[in-house]
Amino acid sequence: MTRVLVLNSGSSSVKYRLFDGTRTLAKGLIERIGESGGDAADHREALQKIMSETDVEGLAAVGHRVVHGGSDFTEPTVVDDGVVARIDSLTPLAPLHNPAAVTGLEVARKLLPDVPQVAVFDTAFHATIPPEGVTWAIDAELAAKWQIRRYGFHGTSHAYVARRTAEILGKPLEDTNVITLHLGNGASATAVRGGRSVATSMGLSPLDGLVMGTRSGAIDPTVIFHLHRVAGLSIDEIESSLTRHGGLLGLCGDNDMRVVEDRVEAGDPVATRAFAVYLRRLRECVGAYLAVLGRVDAITFTAGVGEHSPTVRSGSLSGLEPLGIEIDPARNEAGDEIISTDGSRTKVLVVATEEELEIANQARTALGLA
Ligand code: ADP
Repeated sequence: MTRVLVLNSGSSSVKYRLFDGTRTLAKGLIERIGESGGDAADHREALQKIMSETDVEGLAAVGHRVVHGGSDFTEPTVVDDGVVARIDSLTPLAPLHNPAAVTGLEVARKLLPDVPQVAVFDTAFHATIPPEGVTWAIDAELAAKWQIRRYGFHGTSHAYVARRTAEILGKPLEDTNVITLHLGNGASATAVRGGRSVATSMGLSPLDGLVMGTRSGAIDPTVIFHLHRVAGLSIDEIESSLTRHGGLLGLCGDNDMRVVEDRVEAGDPVATRAFAVYLRRLRECVGAYLAVLGRVDAITFTAGVGEHSPTVRSGSLSGLEPLGIEIDPARNEAGDEIISTDGSRTKVLVVATEEELEIANQARTALGLA
């Protein structure tokens, strides 16, 4: 019983991957659910398709990615009716993401009633951040009443990458301090001390922190009041602007980092400014986490941009030699596992993230199978 099916149900897509141990037996993506010409009419049909195309015999578990676990869920959780209801009740905190996960859970439980279902939360890894790292200086009663605090996301990725970093360095995880930089369409940074998250850049939602493909990252909240009162935008319009028309897209009209880099290369001033804003925010965040951790063994880049863009890696860490951080240009260009110089006190790594594998492993652990 080593087979685990991992389901990642998004608002309009379901990604799946079938593992036997760490080996991938099958994987796929059902896209544009509910759209004309899409792969499925709804999530039920999408999951039925996945089950019929995949050998679900002898499954030990189904692991579900759930974006928001609120303050309730700090560990992977075996799913029953109560758990589904609690995840559903967190929908106000993640209106785009949690309903899809709930549908995925409900349908999978119906289709595979004898297989344990485990919910693995993006937020859970950050449950170890101390109170001062998750509390905003706002009216404490309001914050408590409405569950307003930093939760953090991309937890399975940061957890996996921090562990891999310790393995690559040949150090015990408990003694390894890492800044993990997950730079994909969404992007977040985490300070990890001894395998535990102690600071992260995303907040109540995945909108906070770094500049992303289409999300603004952190801004002065007054921008929102100003856009509402002075520019006359509704709250929904502002949310859409900051989440879907912000970030690199808002700055230069392109959200794909490859395209932005090509434009920078060609001397395009608008893309050059956007790229500089992206790097500046990243650099500021790294600086903050160096101060949080004190001793940093490694800074690790992961996800689409982090794994594939030497320019982003060098652009965000250049000039930090006085702090003991020195990238080797040839290793960086080649995308080696370790891209810092041999003399660099803090190592700089590139690690391919494996969120689905981490979810499968956590699902097994939750069931006492690993
Ligand atoms: P998601 O966050 O949706 O999982 P990924 O982690 O796959 O996304 O990251 C997608 C991003 O990675 C895109 O912005 C894409 O442009 C960027 N990317 C992929 N390959 C490269 C590359 N060779 N150079 C720069 N950016 C890249």
